[in-house]
Order: sequence, then structure tokens, then C-alpha cells
Amino acid sequence: MTPEVTDVADDATEDRTTFADLALRPELLKALTTLGYEEPTPIQREAIPPLLEGKDLLGQAATGTGKTAAFALPVLQKLAEAERRTTAPLALVLVPTRELAVQVCEAVHKYGRDLGARVLPIYGGQPIGRQLQALERGVDVVVATPGRAIDHIGRGTLKLDGLQIVVLDEADEMLDMGFAEDIESILQETPSERQTVLFSATMPPRIDKLARQHLKDPVRITIGREQTAPGEAPRVRQSAYIVPRAHKPAALGRVLDVEAPTAAIVFCRTRDEVDQLTETLNGRGYRAESLHGGISQEQRDRVMGRLRNGTADLLVATDVAARGLDIEQLTHVVNYNVPSAPESYVHRIGRVGRAGREGVAITLVEPREHGMLKTIERVTKQRIPVEKVPTVADLRARRLELTRAALHESLLEDDLEGFRVVVETLTDDFDLMEIALAAVKLAHEASGAAATEEEEIPDVSARIDRDRPGRGSAEPGNRRERRPRTPTAGMTRLFFGAGRSAGIRPQDLVGAIAGEAKLKGRDIGAIEIADRFSLVEVPESSAQSVIVALRGATVKGRKVSVRLERDQQG
Ligand code: AMP
Repeated sequence: MTPEVTDVADDATEDRTTFADLALRPELLKALTTLGYEEPTPIQREAIPPLLEGKDLLGQAATGTGKTAAFALPVLQKLAEAERRTTAPLALVLVPTRELAVQVCEAVHKYGRDLGARVLPIYGGQPIGRQLQALERGVDVVVATPGRAIDHIGRGTLKLDGLQIVVLDEADEMLDMGFAEDIESILQETPSERQTVLFSATMPPRIDKLARQHLKDPVRITIGREQTAPGEAPRVRQSAYIVPRAHKPAALGRVLDVEAPTAAIVFCRTRDEVDQLTETLNGRGYRAESLHGGISQEQRDRVMGRLRNGTADLLVATDVAARGLDIEQLTHVVNYNVPSAPESYVHRIGRVGRAGREGVAITLVEPREHGMLKTIERVTKQRIPVEKVPTVADLRARRLELTRAALHESLLEDDLEGFRVVVETLTDDFDLMEIALAAVKLAHEASGAAATEEEEIPDVSARIDRDRPGRGSAEPGNRRERRPRTPTAGMTRLFFGAGRSAGIRPQDLVGAIAGEAKLKGRDIGAIEIADRFSLVEVPESSAQSVIVALRGATVKGRKVSVRLERDQQG
């Protein structure tokens, strides 16, 4: 059935405050637009105005809420409005770990690019010499771990008398790591008329005490305070997958393969993310359309048309763009990131499971966002079970099952007589089981099932359960596990300059090689089809003759370059 799609103005109850409404400077607004941020997150909406007014702030917010921009934008605005810049920093951000120091620095740097903000991370483990030089040249915003900050203060290289604003980020983590005394000593070195901001994922009494001592009449903000009334949250099958960032596209593909949604909407944070993910999904053979605030009404209508007539089954969108969109047949909502507030989670998943139909909500969670998932569970009073991403073996088994089901269906249909002659002639040389196996292999490959990527996705969910929520270091970075690329003995691999995006399937390659080079299908070994190229194993002894024979030949109607794989790598 094709989805019924309506595109109407949404209810007016939601807060539509824009970044421009927050009275941010044009340079900052421009940076946010460039980054593809469409609207402030709830914490940004609530925190930015009082911070711009110079008030102290005590915010309860976990990673994933957008808290970094919530303090970084006011810091930058203050910097832009400062009468003159000295070499001493105007803002100091204290963070628990070096990873967070680097992340916060990158964020401040990208938001403050047009303001020429000088930002420096300072953490232990990094050679101190480079930090000294940078401090000497002059820095506007220092992002430091408490230990190294103390070190520099002691040396007289970090001067705090010009500070206008101090931010304690992830304060609960800093206290847990034993930085309480360091924080006290650092704050004592700062001017008493400074503005102080404290963000913490949890609010234990120790944080309260810290706030009482060092914050002046702070504005208090809590993300995830309001509890949804029981029964208000829609009844939807919910699950979460903990996936390192680098593996998210592959994990999403795999989950979609197993879930096989009729129609799904995938929520992303920014325009860029929407565009990139749509491209990746289309490259993997899905029919995805993107929707975000940068898309014209005409394009939007076209996308709606494709969803309506069933030529697209995945919509990748930002919250802003998806507003007012009602897709009747929607079966799945996917959060490509943890939403920035529980309300947003509830609102998104409310799009499925309507009118008694089963709805499914899937959330991909980066290890560091785990705390936010817990907040959502608390607020919605529902458990969101963490599932394991289907493994390569699960996927293979699932695909083989699909091929088996297709063969079963074909056996039930009474139209196989025409193929009897093929089987009969083959029985002269092979037994029936072998012939059947070869036929199954061809059918499996022809469905495209055999040729998809098979990158293993590390399972980090068990590690997360052991760690405290919110701890960020469980993520194994960008390490990618590739499968071994040595060809079978006696075979060599040929590189073909066309792949999945050109619609190449295994049988097209077998057809071309068998047809032009007079090689038998069974002489051809493993075939791997990537987006833009394919690799085919052929007997070493025939490799050159295959290359020569295929010169000028076409595969699927197009000329394709063919060479030994090692040429391509070397
Ligand atoms: P944080 O909670 O500060 O770690 O931010 C989580 C992620 O959300 C980061 O990747 C930010 O780049 C992104 N982000 C922050 N604010 C917004 C926004 N208003 N719109 C879209 N993405 C955002």
C-alpha cells in the first residue's frame, strides 16, 4: 500500500523560538546556518537569553542536549562585545577529560570562526611547550582540565584576572574524578564579579553545594524534568542500539534490512547530516529522500509526491522540516542521534503506532550519549531496551532465508517445466545436489543479497552497561575492521571501474567475463561489489587474457575499465 501523505501546518503549541529570536549576533547566526542547525534545542532556548543578560546559570543537561552551544554562543557574544582584546583569556571552560576539552574547543572554534575567536585546549598528557607558546600569543577562550589548569596558574602562564565568564562543564564528572579541590582553587583565582555557569548531567547534593558557594542567584534549568503523564506516551515498540559514530551508517543500514519498514522517517540533527545520510542510504540501495529547512517548497512537494506514489520509502529529515507532515503508513521512526530533549523523543515517536497499527521507534545512541537515553527513559517512564546491532552472520542468515523463501514460492508455482532441459543436460556431469546448489547461489546473487558490504560493527553495548552513563571514553574512535582482502589460492582479483551505484550486479560481471573471455562461470571466484567499483576473482593464469578480452567491452551497457587489483592499490 502506498503511504497517505499530508503536509499541513503543525499544531502551534510547540515553541518555535529561532536562533534569531535569541538576539545572537549576525556572525554567530551565520555560523549556525552554515553548520545546518535549524533551530535551538530546548536547553539553548532556555539558557542563552539569561546568559546573554549576564546571569549565572545552573543547568542540568546531559551530552546530546546541545549544552555546549548553549554556553559557547553566549561566551562568543561576550567576546565580540568586549571593548578590547588582551592576551589574557576572557572565558575559562573547565571539563573533566581531554576528549571533552578537544570537543568543546572544536565547537567554540566553529561557532566563533567569523569572530576570529582564539580558543585553546589545555589538558594533561600534551607537551606543555605548545600550550605555553599559545598562551603567550594570546587566547580568548581556554578549555582546560582542572589539573593542567592549576599547573599553568602555578607557573603564572594562565592569567585569570581578565576572566569574565567561567563554565564548569560536566561538573558531576569532575567531582567524581576528584577535581573538587582543584576547582575550588581555580575559582578563587578568578575575579569575583565574573559570570559563572555550571552544567551537570546529575544534581547530587555536592553539586548543589558547589553551586551555592560559587554561583550568584543562578537561573536553574532542567532538561527532562517534566514527566509525561502515564499513558500519554504512544505505545510503540522501542529499541536502542549503541553504536560508535563511525559505524552509524552501516548499523542503520543493517537495522533497516532486518526491520524492512513499509515507510520510515529518519531524524537527523542538521541539514548536512540529512544530506549526507540520504546520499549514503541511496548508495546502499535504499530509496531515501531528504527534507530540511534549506529545501524549496517545490522540492518539498516533489519529495512528498515520491512518498505518496511509493517511489521512496525512507524520508531523512530534520525536526523542523518534518513538522506538519503526516505520513499515514509510517511504520518506523528512526532517531539517527538521541533527540536533544525527551519531549522531542515523545513527539517524534508519536508519529507512528497510530490507529491501532504497530509502530516501531529505533534510536541510534553514540556511547557518550547514553546518559541522555537514560533521561528519556526516566521522563517517559518506559524502558528502551538496548539491542545488539545485527551481525554480519545475522544478516547473511536473514538474506539466505529470503532466498530460501523466494525459492519456496517459486517451487509452489507451476511454471518450472521450461528449465527442465537445463537441469537434464547438467546431470550428465554433475549430481542434482550440486546443480541445485549452483542454482541457489545464482538466485541469491541475482537478488543482490550476496554483494553488500560486510563490515563488522563492534558491539559496545555490554561495555556501556558496565560504565557509568555519560562517560565518554568507551568509543573506540574511527578504527575500522576490514575483512581480509587476500584472494583465494590460485586466483587473482580484477578491479572493475563500476559498482553498485552503476547498477552492477554479480551476474552482469559473470556475463561479461564468460561472454568475452570464454571463461566458464564456475571458474570465476568471489565477487565483491562496492559503490563505485567491483572486485572479481579469476584464475591467475587467465587474468591477462580476461583483461585483454574485456578491453572495449561493455558491462550493463557501459564501458568499464578492468585491471589487476594491485595496480589500483599501488
Ligand atoms: P552537546 O550536547 O553539546 O554535546 O551537542 C550534541 C550535538 O548536537 C553536537 O553534535 C552538536 O553539534 C549538535 N547540536 C547542538 N545544537 C544543535 C542545534 N541547535 N541543531 C542541531 N544540532 C545541534
